[in-house]
Amino acid sequence: MKTIIIIISALILVSSVYFSERNFTMSDSQINKDSTKQESEKDRMLKKLNKSEEEWKQELSEEQYCVMFEKGTERAFTGKYYDHHEEGIYTCAACGSNLFSSDAKYNSKSGWPSYFQPYSKESINYHKDSSYGMVRTEVTCAKCDGHLGHVFTDGPEPTGLRYCINSVSMNFVAKEK
Ligand SMILES: [Zn+2]
Repeated sequence: MKTIIIIISALILVSSVYFSERNFTMSDSQINKDSTKQESEKDRMLKKLNKSEEEWKQELSEEQYCVMFEKGTERAFTGKYYDHHEEGIYTCAACGSNLFSSDAKYNSKSGWPSYFQPYSKESINYHKDSSYGMVRTEVTCAKCDGHLGHVFTDGPEPTGLRYCINSVSMNFVAKEK
């Protein structure tokens, strides 16, 4: 009887080690999958405008590259446009596409340039972003897939939206007077 109990407990022990190792391997492959997904997003952006990583790195500043390709965030109250009030169009720093009009810009006091709507529906793409333990909506340039920032639902009328955008992802074209 004793022997049977010992055999059964040994079996339980072996199988629990086996399954926990299996779980470990599974979560490992999950991580790999996620990093390949990030890789392919970058590849897609490179392919979309047919420019190599090296060419982008030459054209953009280090901070621009980090924000637009690696989804970084500039520090609040440091960007060139959060306190910028001229009339004109904000364009994509990578591809030049129109992103936001100064007509939709408002002071959100967040330290990043904020807009209640994009230049046009076709300017922006939306993606679910679950990084840093938050669920947010990432916004990217529809033409080149460059990362711009996030959109939140605490904005002013008429849309109630707050497009919270990194200054380094944009250039400004002043309205001709
Ligand atoms: Zn772009």
